[in-house]
Amino acid sequence: MDCVIVSPHVDDAFLSLGGLLSKKQFGTALVLNLFSQSKYAKPRYGDSVKEIGKERRREELINAAAVGCAVEFSGLPEAGLRGYQIGADGKIWGDNPSRRDIEVAIEAERRILDRIRDAKDVFFPLAIGRHVDHMIVSKIGIETATRKNSGLNFHFYEDMPYAIHSPSRAGYLDIGLSGHQMHPKMLRFNPVTKFRLCSNYISQFNQYDALRIVLYGKQMRVLGGFNERIWSVNDYEYLGALATKEPIINGAVREIRDKHQYSRLTAKGHEN
Ligand SMILES: [Zn+2]
Repeated sequence: MDCVIVSPHVDDAFLSLGGLLSKKQFGTALVLNLFSQSKYAKPRYGDSVKEIGKERRREELINAAAVGCAVEFSGLPEAGLRGYQIGADGKIWGDNPSRRDIEVAIEAERRILDRIRDAKDVFFPLAIGRHVDHMIVSKIGIETATRKNSGLNFHFYEDMPYAIHSPSRAGYLDIGLSGHQMHPKMLRFNPVTKFRLCSNYISQFNQYDALRIVLYGKQMRVLGGFNERIWSVNDYEYLGALATKEPIINGAVREIRDKHQYSRLTAKGHEN
């Protein structure tokens, strides 16, 4: 595979980067869905993890077939299956990740490192919205990107639909990548295609939700088109001490770095 889109849940890759995937802008792609064991769906899709997981995988496979990418389901349990109350403030990650969080994070990292080995470009979420599963995956991305000589191009994408509520005005992003300056890149997408992909997740969203995601791409205002924005690491532009401190996406990304102790834990996992 030329590129790997690391996706916390079954739907994140297409909601955030459906345009990129449909245009094959980075060549052949693998969507790696890590926390694909889910109990989260509208009531009519059943109430067992088995039924819901099956329905969500079905939706994802339709999109994968539509754009011609590979897709993988790692089967790790999403936050709701690890005792988190979805949407309950303060219970998302917090200052003390649980033992179960650490276990799944280490396993998630193992899967990611295994799959990105032969790729050229790899995409991680920024964890806008601070969902614990997104934060785990984002942190793994930051840790991996920080290592020298990986030979990979690292990109971070704006999590949809969370980014709609936390829009960024920043021209540069600091997520604690050891001095790497990150620049936004706008990737033009076809709104009709992206709407089709987003509105396919009927166990999760309605068509209005899908439309809002598409319209957010219009806010990027590059030559009037619709765009997905990614933030790429550029090795050659070292960020000096006097670098401009432009607004961070709602402070959320900085909080990941400052508040959470996950990096130390993954580093430990690596020695094994
Ligand atoms: Zn998600």
